[in-house]
Amino acid sequence: MKKINFTVKEILLALLNKTKTQTIRPAWDIYAYKKNGIWKKRQPKFKVGDLAKIMWNQRSKSNKFCRNCGTGLGNSVIPEPFCPKCHKPTSDFFTKTIGVVKITEVFEIEMRKLKEDTFCFIRFPTHYIEKDNVVHALIQPPEKEEELAKRDGFKSVEDMFKLFDKIYDLSTPKPFFVYRWRWLK
Ligand SMILES: [Zn+2]
Repeated sequence: MKKINFTVKEILLALLNKTKTQTIRPAWDIYAYKKNGIWKKRQPKFKVGDLAKIMWNQRSKSNKFCRNCGTGLGNSVIPEPFCPKCHKPTSDFFTKTIGVVKITEVFEIEMRKLKEDTFCFIRFPTHYIEKDNVVHALIQPPEKEEELAKRDGFKSVEDMFKLFDKIYDLSTPKPFFVYRWRWLK
């Protein structure tokens, strides 16, 4: 089963209580771009109907994590009583695999910074090929920023845009795939 991995603390709570029903991922090859400055568009990793395992910090050596801050707590049957980072009790730790989801919607957006602290996004029409072999565009009603941020597990629109700007630099417009899902378990 394909995996969707998360490491960003801002959305951890929404992931654990399963109110997060979406992720926004780069629609370009970030490694090629970082390494050689080559801009290459990518195909979406998931299509509607795919199943995916939702993981936390897949590469971590730990299999237990602090529910408050996501820090790895090692692999002992019973972890240390307090988190080494945030010092909260570790009694209700969580494990690497958080759940399984079914992808319900895939589309592309573009995010950009207009000026300091002002961001926007547009949703592209979804293209599909009918029996007549003609490419049709399904234009969706405009989507609210609040909806996008909430589904993604952020407390506010501002938090969402700022984090994406920090990671991906939105001073030039960037394309992303939005994957939405339903939790199966
Ligand atoms: Zn912690």
